[in-house]
Amino acid sequence: MRRTLLALSVALSVSQSVLAEEHQHASLGAHEHGVASLNLVVDGSLVSLELDSPAANLVGFEHLPSNDEDRATVARVKAALEQADTLFSFTPAAGCTLQQVELESPLFAAHEDEDSDEHEHEHEHEHEHEHHDDHASGEHEQHDDHDDHHDHEHGEHADIEGRFDFNCSTPERLEALTLPLFNSFPAMQRIQVQAITTSGQHGAVLTADQPTLSLD
Ligand SMILES: [Zn+2]
Repeated sequence: MRRTLLALSVALSVSQSVLAEEHQHASLGAHEHGVASLNLVVDGSLVSLELDSPAANLVGFEHLPSNDEDRATVARVKAALEQADTLFSFTPAAGCTLQQVELESPLFAAHEDEDSDEHEHEHEHEHEHEHHDDHASGEHEQHDDHDDHHDHEHGEHADIEGRFDFNCSTPERLEALTLPLFNSFPAMQRIQVQAITTSGQHGAVLTADQPTLSLD
């Protein structure tokens, strides 16, 4: 019995340190295909979500759109993100409605401002993520073609950041956040969610199979 408890406590402390590491990783702006981070903050009736995702998870590529097909894909993704109430869903009783969406990405900037070379610099700035330790872990299998060259070719990677503000008429009824987003974007494998609500902090890694975070 004693041994079981010891083993359990070792297992727990290992998993806690893994979580702490992952969290730190995410806050440093790690860029790992298939993985995104989402922060939720409740402030009175305002519920804000901040998503930070590799563009690959949403668009399917990360280069600047260079032809009509790419541009159409980017425009479609942008439009889908603007319909954020179909991607993020709250307890209906909380009465949350989408107020405002702000999106930022080199891919979107290029879309609006094709002739400028300003975005080259912006793009490199997005690239502070080169040394993933987990290249060999298999997360990148769909992107081997570009990850192989990843350290040499700048501008291969890009993020999409989104801020989604909801106004909730009864925020105290907010019991859960669900992410139908996984249905729209199958390349999105995991989202690390951190939530700060009146009941405290909540965190989870959500997936298509487990898309709901309890906020109780
Ligand atoms: Zn990338």
